[in-house]
Amino acid sequence: MLFDPRPKTRREDLYDREKELEAFSKAQSPLILVTGLRRTGKSSLIHVALHDKPYIYLDARSFEERGYISYGDLLKELQAAVNHAVGRWRSLLDVLRLVEGVEVAGAAVRFRWGKNRVRLADLLNRLDQWAGERGARLYVVLDEAQELSKLRGASVLPALAYSYDNLRNLVFVLSGSKARLLGQFLKLEDPESPLYGRVVDRIELKPFTEEQAVDFLTKGAAEWGLTIEDPRQVYKRLGGVPGWLAMYGYKYVTTRSHDAALRETLESAVSLIRQEFRNFLIGREQAEARYLTVMKAAKRCATWSEIKRALEVAEGREINDAEVTKLIKNLVNYSFLEKFGDVYCPPDPVIGEAF
Ligand code: ADP
Ligand code: MG
Repeated sequence: MLFDPRPKTRREDLYDREKELEAFSKAQSPLILVTGLRRTGKSSLIHVALHDKPYIYLDARSFEERGYISYGDLLKELQAAVNHAVGRWRSLLDVLRLVEGVEVAGAAVRFRWGKNRVRLADLLNRLDQWAGERGARLYVVLDEAQELSKLRGASVLPALAYSYDNLRNLVFVLSGSKARLLGQFLKLEDPESPLYGRVVDRIELKPFTEEQAVDFLTKGAAEWGLTIEDPRQVYKRLGGVPGWLAMYGYKYVTTRSHDAALRETLESAVSLIRQEFRNFLIGREQAEARYLTVMKAAKRCATWSEIKRALEVAEGREINDAEVTKLIKNLVNYSFLEKFGDVYCPPDPVIGEAF
C-alpha cells in the first residue's frame, strides 16, 4: 500500500526508486551512504533493499533530542538493535556469547557498559565471523548516523575504519537526512580521520518530480478504488517529498476530502518541522531569535543580503557579516535551507509553512 504511513519494508509498497535499489544491490564498498532530505524514503529504501538479507538496524533518531550521548547510551541502543536481529537470526547468539561484556540470558543479550564494557571492534569481529561461517554478508545499518557525532568520550569511527579494512563479511549502511553533517562526521577527506580516503558508495534520494508525485498519488488512490481529483494541486502545495504525499494520501483515504487531507497534512507537517527545529536549537538557545528571523526571511527564498537586512531590522542594529554567514551555514548544514544560485530557500516547501 503506497499510502501506508510507516516506512515501507516490501518492494511492492515502494513507489519507483528502481535506480536507487539497483545501485544498492550493485554497491561494492563495505560502506554505503544513503542521503536525502527527511521523509524522502531512506529508511524505506534500506529496509526494502535488505529484506532478504541479515542485518542489524540501529535507529539513531532516538538521539535527535539530545545535546550529547555517552558510550552507554550508544550501547543501550545497539543492544536493542542486536536483540531485534537475534529475534530473526537466532544463531547470532552463538557468536555473541563469545564477546567480552555480552551476557546471554535465554534468547536475549545484555551489553555491559561499566567495567568490562563491550568493545565495538570485538563485537564486530564476532559478527563478521558469523556471516563468514554462512557465506553471507551481514549489514549493519546506522540510520540517521549523523546523530552519532554527539557521542562524547568515544567515537564509532575507529571501529568503522577497522571493519572497513579488515572484516570482509560486514557492510555498513549509513543514512543521513543532513548530508552535510554526515559528511562532517565521517571526514572522508580529512587525513586526520580514521576513515580518510576510504571509497564509499553513495545513494542520494531526491524528492519526487511533479510527474512522479502525480503518478504516486494516482496509483496510491487506485489501490483504494479512489481518484484524487487534482493531484497537481497537491504537488503544488506539498512539493515532492514522498513522506508528505503518502501522509496526504493516507488522510485522503480516511477523510475522502481533498481540503481536509491537505489541511491535516500541513498541520501535522508543520508541527513535525517545528519539533525538528527545536531539536536543532538545543545548545543554540542564545541565537534562537536570530535563527527564527533567518528562516522567516528565507521561507520563500532570500539572498544573503536580504537575510542580513532582515536580521538588522529585527534587532535595530548592525550585525557583522561573519555572524550572518554562520547562522546561514548552520541552517544549511541541518537542511533547513539550501543554496540555489544566489538565493537560500527551504529545500522542502513545507518547511517554509512552519515559519
Ligand atoms: P526517511 O527515512 O528518508 O525519513 P521514510 O522511509 O521514513 O523516510 O519515509 C517517509 C514516509 O514516506 C513513510 O511514510 C514512507 O512510507 C513514505 N515513502 C517514502 N518513500 C516512499 C516510496 N518510494 N513509495 C511509497 N512511500 C514512500
Ligand atoms: Mg528514516
